[in-house]
Amino acid sequence: MDVDLTLIEKYNISGPRYTSYPTALAFEDAAEEDYQAAVARSGEGPISLYTHLPFCSTLCYYCACNKIVTRDKGKGIRYLDYLRREIEAHAPLYAGREVRQLHWGGGTPTFLTDEQISALSGWLREHFQFADDRDGEFSIEIDPRTVDPDRIAALRQSGFNRLSMGIQDFDARVQAAVNRKQSFEATDAAVEAARQHGFSSVSIDLIYGLPFQSLVTMDQTLGKVLRLGPDRISLYNYAHLPDRFSPQQRIQAVDLPAAEEKLRIFKRCTERLTGEGYVYIGMDHFARPDDELAVAQRNGTLQRNFQGYSTFGGLDLLALGVTGISQFSDAYFQNAREMADYEGLIDSGQIPVRKMIHVDEDDRIRRQVIMTLICEFSLDFGDFNDRFGIDFVSYFNEELGFLRDMASDRLVAVNDSGIVVSESGRLLIRNICMTFDRHLPGVSGKRFSRVI
Ligand code: SF4
Repeated sequence: MDVDLTLIEKYNISGPRYTSYPTALAFEDAAEEDYQAAVARSGEGPISLYTHLPFCSTLCYYCACNKIVTRDKGKGIRYLDYLRREIEAHAPLYAGREVRQLHWGGGTPTFLTDEQISALSGWLREHFQFADDRDGEFSIEIDPRTVDPDRIAALRQSGFNRLSMGIQDFDARVQAAVNRKQSFEATDAAVEAARQHGFSSVSIDLIYGLPFQSLVTMDQTLGKVLRLGPDRISLYNYAHLPDRFSPQQRIQAVDLPAAEEKLRIFKRCTERLTGEGYVYIGMDHFARPDDELAVAQRNGTLQRNFQGYSTFGGLDLLALGVTGISQFSDAYFQNAREMADYEGLIDSGQIPVRKMIHVDEDDRIRRQVIMTLICEFSLDFGDFNDRFGIDFVSYFNEELGFLRDMASDRLVAVNDSGIVVSESGRLLIRNICMTFDRHLPGVSGKRFSRVI
């Protein structure tokens, strides 16, 4: 894949990652009755479950996640008790609906002990009906610094069949600057154990734009990553926003790679990964050609939800835990963002939702446009006309005008029957999707990260 740095520089503005549409910034106040009504309307189909586990033992200075840094394991015990009560409150609303996808994210889910993980997994399986191991995708984010091969075996015993793990960078100086020391050997052992114990997919995260990174250091890191041979690789852009994310104040701006060097690192990583046979799925994601994400993209069945690209992205999604966001076809709901508020709502016998947005018909059409472009890099007007009873070309007359400007830079081609995103346009897919986002002008662009 050739990367055109001139185009990237021209279009490199802040933009949403579109794990939802509308994005969470557009959410408003919610009541429990709104949530119960939305679940009732959502029908009887299979669901996806997300569980947020916010604790981490140490702080990575680049982190922009919603987490609680503590070494007090007692906090985990207390949180599990609230999660159990939240599970019991939701479960009757989903009776008879099969869980086809499960993801535990954080924070660091492996902050919990094996016994705690087993207990939480047991409560979920006791209260919800799970698909068989071969039919479901049950994944957990692990921190290789907190697991050994025995723990990986225990995770498989607890029902997980996919792993994702952070690496970010193997260079010692970069690791010291971001306070995340993680050896290649420990990571290799975790990947090896995952294969031995029958995990069907291993996914790893890298970040470019960290302090002291250069083309040389990133090339060395990539070499090690390729030796690990993960099924999926995410390559995230580090956005230095110390005013918004206080941990980043410990990173000195002067140590960051210059903008041109950062773009060269991105170009090098993208070209090397695709040169090694990984398929560019879109946004920040790469996958082996035989991985189910790449297969789904080829078959036109790839989807996207809060867990990123997925083969199950079209399912209703129930999110458990502080900050979790649930998704239904006509509404999104977010749980309380502060732990005290989350606990208080559960203590008063409520389902702990605080924010929501109704998705109207126009949102649904735009969401489908954005998700189709993000997942398939092309869109057929006729499909939308049939599905939504619209005339795409007149409905999106203004947006198509904006796209024609991008077409002059050869990011997209717009013809009588649809839109096709070019290879250069794939890297700037967020910009293309932003054209269809009617909520964007009302939210501050400063709250999103740059697209590359
Ligand atoms: S990057 Fe992950 S492990 Fe590090 S502090 Fe953030 S949530 Fe925790």
